[in-house]
This record gives sequence, C-alpha cells and structure tokens, in this order.
Amino acid sequence: MKRRVEVAIVGGGVIGCAIAYYLTQLGLRDIAVFERSYLASGSTGRCGAGVRAQWGTEMNCRLAQSSIHDFETLADELDYPSIDFKQGGYLILAFGRAQLDQFGRNVALQNSLGIQSRLVTPDEARRIVPHLVAPDLLGATFCPTDGHCDPFKVTDAYAQAARRGGAEIHTATTVTGLRVCAGRITTVETDRGPVDCGLLVNAAGPHAAQIAAMAGCEIPYMTQRHQIMVTEPVAAMQDPMVISFSHGLYCQQTPRGSFIMGLGDPAEPVGFDMGHSWQFLADLASKIDYLMPALGSLRVVRQWSGLYEVTPDSQPLLGLAPEPANLWLAAGFSGHGFMLAPMVGRILAQLICGQAPEIDVSPLDLGRFARGELMREPSVV
Ligand SMILES: Cc1cc2nc3c(=O)[nH]c(=O)nc-3n(C[C@H](O)[C@H](O)[C@H](O)COP(=O)(O)OP(=O)(O)OC[C@H]3O[C@@H](n4cnc5c(N)ncnc54)[C@H](O)[C@@H]3O)c2cc1C
Repeated sequence: MKRRVEVAIVGGGVIGCAIAYYLTQLGLRDIAVFERSYLASGSTGRCGAGVRAQWGTEMNCRLAQSSIHDFETLADELDYPSIDFKQGGYLILAFGRAQLDQFGRNVALQNSLGIQSRLVTPDEARRIVPHLVAPDLLGATFCPTDGHCDPFKVTDAYAQAARRGGAEIHTATTVTGLRVCAGRITTVETDRGPVDCGLLVNAAGPHAAQIAAMAGCEIPYMTQRHQIMVTEPVAAMQDPMVISFSHGLYCQQTPRGSFIMGLGDPAEPVGFDMGHSWQFLADLASKIDYLMPALGSLRVVRQWSGLYEVTPDSQPLLGLAPEPANLWLAAGFSGHGFMLAPMVGRILAQLICGQAPEIDVSPLDLGRFARGELMREPSVV
C-alpha cells in the first residue's frame, strides 16, 4: 500500500470504482480506493440495477441518458466479457389523473432532450407486458432503451480497468478517520495505517455522512432500508422493467430468467437496519397479485435488503464541499445511483482534473440546501 496518493477514494461501490477508472482515463494514476469490505458489498451489490432515462427533472434525465449510452458500450470499453445489459425498456404505470398528468409533463421534458419515451394507453401497456392486469391502470410511459445490468459485473469491470490504469484498490480496508490541517484533508487513517492524500473523494454511499463528519462536514440525507428479492429462473416472459410509483414497486426479469422485485415502504423508519421481513414478502405478493397475477406462482429463492440515502430533493450530491477545501462528494443518490455511475464517474474525474464537465452539475452541490435551491425529483420508487 502506498503511503501517499494524490487521490484517495472512500468506497468500493460502483461510484467509487467508476470515478477511479475515469480518473485513470484522464491520466491520473496516483489513486487509491479504500473499501472496508468487498467491492459492491454496499448498496451497489444489493440493488435492482435498473437503468432508465425516464425522469422528471432535466438533470436526472441528462445524467441517466448519457449513462445509458455509456452502458451500451461499457463492456467493450472496459474489455470485460459482459455486464448483462438488457435493454427491454421500462414501463412506468400510471394510476390516478394527477399521476398521468405528471407523466405527460415528464414525457414532454424527456422528448425535448431526445429521450424516446412515450405515453401509452392501458391496452398498449398490456400488449408490451401481456401478463399485466392492473385493473385500474390509466396509462403508462414506455422507453425502449431503458433496462438493467448486473451491478457486480459493472463494478468489477470498472475496478479491473482502474487497476490496469494504475489505481490501487484496497478491499478489507476501513477508513477510520481523516486528519485535517489548515482547512485541507491531509491524511486518511485506515485500519491498515495512515495514507497521506492530495484530495479525498467521498463515495461511501449510505455511510458518506459519517465519512464527511470525520472532516467536520455535515451532509443532509436520511438512510432507509429497501427490501428486494429474487425468484427461481423461468422461461423469458417479460422484457421491460415494470414500475409503479403508486405501489412503490419494481419488477424485472433478468437475462437468466429470474425475476427481481423490490418494494419501497413509505412507513420504513430512518436508520441502518438491513434485516428482512415476512411483511415485505406479504406486501409484495399482494401487490404483484393485483398488477401481474401470473407471477404469483413463482418460487422465491432469496430476499435481502439495502439502504437508500435520500436527500431532501431526492437528487445526488456532487462536487466540492465548501470545506475542507479538498473534499469531493459523490453521494446522496436516493435510490438511483447505479444508473448514474458512468456519468457521475466521468464528471467527477473531469472536475477533479480541472476540466469543464460534460454536464454542469453545479446545481447539485451541497450548498443548494442552504440556498433553498432544491430540485425535487418526482419520479422515485
Ligand atoms: C434495494 C435497492 C434497490 C436499488 N435499485 C436501484 C436501481 O434499480 N437502479 C439504480 O440506479 N439504483 C438503485 N439503487 C440505488 C443504488 O444501489 C445506489 O444508489 C448505488 O449503488 C450507490 O453506489 P455507491 O457506490 O455510492 O454506494 P455503495 O455501493 O454503498 O458503496 C459505498 C461503499 O463504501 C464502503 N464504505 C462505507 N464506509 C466505509 C469506510 N469507513 N471505509 C471504507 N469503506 C467504506 C461500503 O462498504 C460500500 O461498499 C437501489 C438500492 C437499493 C438498496
């Protein structure tokens, strides 16, 4: 382990590994990633890994749209066999007039940015997903280029490519403290000894607030458990990811035939609980029975949970913190950080290297909360 690096990155999830890779692409080699467990052991390896450009704010649309372009060629770029990117589209179900109106506004915004989404009638939605029943469905939106990937493969692909580019990636290495001197982070303390650094990137996912606090910086988000499960594999029967914001539910069939389904529970308390419950299975079963009863006979293989880190406007926190002067933030992803990883990685690398970023993410800085300049994202599960 080097005892001094230019860039220290905390967190070996998809975000930390993507940033490390894109930094190497810009010529920086003096990088160390510190991951307390194994790569993708946090939210990344627990997520649904859905990827969609159908968002309700221009910022999320643009970050996700560009990331989807990257996902399409990522395996080739990273010289990795496959990231299992399946572009079967996303079908987002609308229940209630207010939601349908919001979806109309979302599609208008998305189309203005070149995203090929469209409003569909209930009948067309049922043609796209033949086992969809949802008796009260008012309509839906569909974008054929949305999809999902394997989050372990994406993270591993970024990590391997970053290593080839010169970055050190230290798993089983916990960051235990940060030394700050004259307003700058000078040293990362780890359980394997101290490492001096030129700057620090905080990509610690749900634990980013704890890392920031080590340097006296407060970042506002709440952590919340989200439960998810996988079924036995069956013959291919569902191309798109199906989402209902009204039911807090998403459901996809992976290329190997298993269904992955998750549920957001509005009553879930704030905290770090990552246990799992019978209640989740019961709630999910009753909602699936209403939406797509044909899936009711699938056998559940495994259930687990992970943490969302939800900011006050459900948008990420990106860029330099006000202080310490060399603390970069890539956190607060609010349940959709996986799909933004390529663009977040590229943009953070560009900013760190002093280049103009491809997309201006300055509105996503930490200061927006104090300024009252929140940009609420309406399309979240
Ligand atoms: C159930 C569920 C479903 C989801 N579905 C989707 C989806 O469909 N699409 C989507 O885009 N997003 C989804 N998300 C959100 C997505 O998983 C996250 O936004 C994304 O993975 C964040 O990546 P990250 O690298 O920032 O965080 P993480 O993957 O959590 O990585 C942070 C890493 O930091 C490490 N760490 C923490 N503290 C320390 C320390 N002190 N020292 C060293 N290392 C430390 C952790 O071990 C962890 O590996 C979902 C999340 C959950 C929980």
